[in-house]
Amino acid sequence: MGCPRESRIEIERQMLSPLASRAELSKGRIKPEPECVIRTCYQRDIDRITHSKTFRRLKHKTQVFLQPEGDHYRTRLTHTLEVARISRTIARGLKLNEDLTEAIALGHDLGHTPFGHAGEGALNKYTKFEHNVQSLRVVDVLEYDYKGMNLTHEVRDGILHHRGVGTPGTLEGQVVQLSDKIAYINHDIDDAIRGGVLNIEDIPKEFVEAFGKHHGQRINSMVTDITASSDGKDKVAPSKAVGALIKSLRKFMFDNVYFGSTAKAEEGKAVDMIAALYEYYIKNIDKLPQGIRGLGCSEEQMVCDYISTMTDKYAIYEYDRLFVPKGWGIR
Ligand code: MG
Repeated sequence: MGCPRESRIEIERQMLSPLASRAELSKGRIKPEPECVIRTCYQRDIDRITHSKTFRRLKHKTQVFLQPEGDHYRTRLTHTLEVARISRTIARGLKLNEDLTEAIALGHDLGHTPFGHAGEGALNKYTKFEHNVQSLRVVDVLEYDYKGMNLTHEVRDGILHHRGVGTPGTLEGQVVQLSDKIAYINHDIDDAIRGGVLNIEDIPKEFVEAFGKHHGQRINSMVTDITASSDGKDKVAPSKAVGALIKSLRKFMFDNVYFGSTAKAEEGKAVDMIAALYEYYIKNIDKLPQGIRGLGCSEEQMVCDYISTMTDKYAIYEYDRLFVPKGWGIR
């Protein structure tokens, strides 16, 4: 048997679009490493992310509903997996590098705070905090006992540019940027209906007519449109009509679910909790884990690093430990 990685590289040469990112042409890692015999550099990055503690913690981080008791609500972990699946399908349709899209998708939200965007907003009062920038910090610095994952340039670029200003430098990164939106708009509709925040009849007719009534139909319609309109082009985008509809469906979700709905009723408490933890740790830097204190960054950065790595569950545990008086036990 020859080298499995070499065979994979050959398949990429033959099968992928000339516009795709090929593993053999990667700009490489910050610290050069010998190649794996079996896996390409992007396949290796998928494994590094999946085996990290930060990835496992996504299961206890909020997507939209805080600490949901129902088993079927999305968490940051299931959101990430849905983004990875949608990304791979679009990449396959466009003959782009599926492994690269999967690695970017699995890593894109690693920097999310506890309690979703409410937690991010709370930290933003103290220092500029953006979860995409923090995701890059997780993979570059914080994971693997503060040694970082040493991922490839293309995966790091896609993680950093999955939102905010700037466009990803690869088409695979653009695929993840769009797949993130497709995933959350659709699964948040599903969860909002499950939680009684929306009724299926509330979704305006124009969206149902364009995308279908059910979760799978909606995703399939969007993915099919993006794949058809981006084939052979140097930009991944939906058709004009579908792009406008996705934009207004997203606005519908902001107006009816993401802001001010009953799903958000507890968010004020989550913001206060994060603020209290920040105030405590900025005055008690010596109580931060030794690894973070050893990073040599500003105190604000250390506290943000520590709080942003927490799950919803752990933030509540820490708050309880630090601020809620304990009863006197039986002696
Ligand atoms: Mg996301």
